[in-house]
Amino acid sequence: MTPFELAEPRTLREAVALLAAGDAPVRAIAGGTALMLMMKAGVFQPARLVSLRRVEAQHAQIAAMPDGGLRIGAMATLSSLVKSLAVKHAAPVITQTLKTLSNVRVRNVATLGGHLAHGDPHMDLPPVLTALGAQVRTLSPTGERKLAVGELYTGYYETVLADNELITEIMVPPQTGWRAAYMKITTRAADDWPTLGVAVSLRMASNTVMDARIVVSAATNTPVRLTTAEDTLRGASLDATVLARCGDAAVSGVELAGDAHGSSAYKCELLRVYAQRALRQAMG
Ligand SMILES: Cc1cc2nc3c(=O)[nH]c(=O)nc-3n(C[C@H](O)[C@H](O)[C@H](O)COP(=O)(O)OP(=O)(O)OC[C@H]3O[C@@H](n4cnc5c(N)ncnc54)[C@H](O)[C@@H]3O)c2cc1C
Repeated sequence: MTPFELAEPRTLREAVALLAAGDAPVRAIAGGTALMLMMKAGVFQPARLVSLRRVEAQHAQIAAMPDGGLRIGAMATLSSLVKSLAVKHAAPVITQTLKTLSNVRVRNVATLGGHLAHGDPHMDLPPVLTALGAQVRTLSPTGERKLAVGELYTGYYETVLADNELITEIMVPPQTGWRAAYMKITTRAADDWPTLGVAVSLRMASNTVMDARIVVSAATNTPVRLTTAEDTLRGASLDATVLARCGDAAVSGVELAGDAHGSSAYKCELLRVYAQRALRQAMG
């Protein structure tokens, strides 16, 4: 590894000021679980790393909102999310997803901000948070902005974040009336990287689907909303015919890439089956 400067600012504002616009070899480092792998592989050689570990403690807090939503500081570790009763109560799908996300050593240091900013399409939480309608708040020298998690990603490891822009907070809206599920399909261990991820969220009135969000990940460059499949559900009751129609529409609405975990055709079949299973699981 080549030598680099390590800056340890005490506030997020100072951290932003230490980052550089443009394509300079300067990056924020939070848990370091993703960035260090890139540095060890020689894919990224920093001139300066800006550590977020010493910024204000409030940026690691998880708060339940009076309306039933959640506000999660970007520096909250994935372990703190797994243990949080507020998260389990407001959005149990997040707690369930985290249990098979990597291992406890990674979760103890990895942060939600780093997880979302990295842009790796195999990550488990971007599709889940997209299905839940979550938003992120960011800070850069030009000010703050809010955007949907689903708008963060533009391509393989690419996001809309500027080089000197940090995620500061994640907001999960109240899930009253919604039911969600995430299916992580792995071809090796259960806590391996997903071969395919399918997140669903349904708003029901009695047995009728009023609204639906279905998001596929891991075999696509970014998490993708399957809007055609969602349309098959609105106004319908989830019987076997509707579920099968939705599974077919899911496959026709997206191109899935094959890799070492399976061919494109195999992943299409996984999507057809697991979209239906995720919907059944969401229905409880
Ligand atoms: C062995 C192993 C197994 C794994 N398995 C899985 C898995 O099964 N499922 C899964 O989803 N993930 C998995 N991961 C990935 C893991 O979830 C990520 O490495 C982790 O979430 C990244 O968070 P971090 O805080 O360590 O980010 P860092 O490594 O510190 O940073 C990652 C990137 O985000 C940027 N960044 C950090 N914080 C911010 C911020 N607040 N605002 C803007 N940019 C920021 C950094 O500059 C860097 O570019 C695995 C990782 C490892 C090492």
